[in-house]
Amino acid sequence: MKQLLQHSGIDFSRLPQSVILESGNEQSRLRAAELLAAAAQCTQADAPCLECAVCRKVLARNHPDVKIISPLKDRTTVSVAQAREVRSDAYIKAHEGRSKVYLFDQAQALTPEAQNAMLKVIEEPPSGSLFVFCLPAAGALLETIRSRSNTVALPAEEEQKSKGVREKLEDAVTLLSDAVIARDEADMMAALIPLEKDRQRMLDAMELIGLVLRDAVALRDGQPLLSGMPQAAQRLGSALQKDVLIRLLCCISPLRDYLELNGKPSLATAKLAGDFMTILYN
Ligand SMILES: [Zn+2]
Repeated sequence: MKQLLQHSGIDFSRLPQSVILESGNEQSRLRAAELLAAAAQCTQADAPCLECAVCRKVLARNHPDVKIISPLKDRTTVSVAQAREVRSDAYIKAHEGRSKVYLFDQAQALTPEAQNAMLKVIEEPPSGSLFVFCLPAAGALLETIRSRSNTVALPAEEEQKSKGVREKLEDAVTLLSDAVIARDEADMMAALIPLEKDRQRMLDAMELIGLVLRDAVALRDGQPLLSGMPQAAQRLGSALQKDVLIRLLCCISPLRDYLELNGKPSLATAKLAGDFMTILYN
């Protein structure tokens, strides 16, 4: 990944201050972001060395000067209040690191207002600060943010390797969307059960389901789509009301948190189907 970023024009000894990492693969985006954060903090000659105490702290997401900004619990967006907090925090000196890093791991969730609130600080970033935006497609960010950032589209080869995996995920999510429209709990579970052997696969499926639901809402507002599954989004969008779609979407992030904390994939499947049914029948 380090070489991959270098090939994409990142000079680790002279990091840009605002970087957009674009990839359809969530894991690639996050790995790239962690490398940038480590590079900003590591004091070794070949930063990021990924071996020193500083790098390890960053990789363990345990570094006080590397902040990860995601939607708050039960929310699907990163709010303007969160963005303002970042803006003022960026001017405060680092606790122990060389740099203050703000990593937006789901930058597609930034509202336009939140992006606007950060425009100034991205335009004239305090020295040593680094802003990293991870998302499937840079187009989801405002042009004003994009024009002030270096966009790195992570090369397709990485994603190519996992093409078979991606297809299986899309199949599962298509089945799941159809089961949601049919309000069929058994079919919802049947769509996810083949993925249960692999926790990461389940996490990827949850992300994709979330994106499709988000797209189903976005379609109504003429916003750009992010999931790469426009047909599924279209079908969900015409079958369900906007508030139902949003409530379904809100089920996803607690399930992802649960899986991230080594939760059982089979319980996540059952919980998702149960939560979805409750919403669909209310
Ligand atoms: Zn290091």
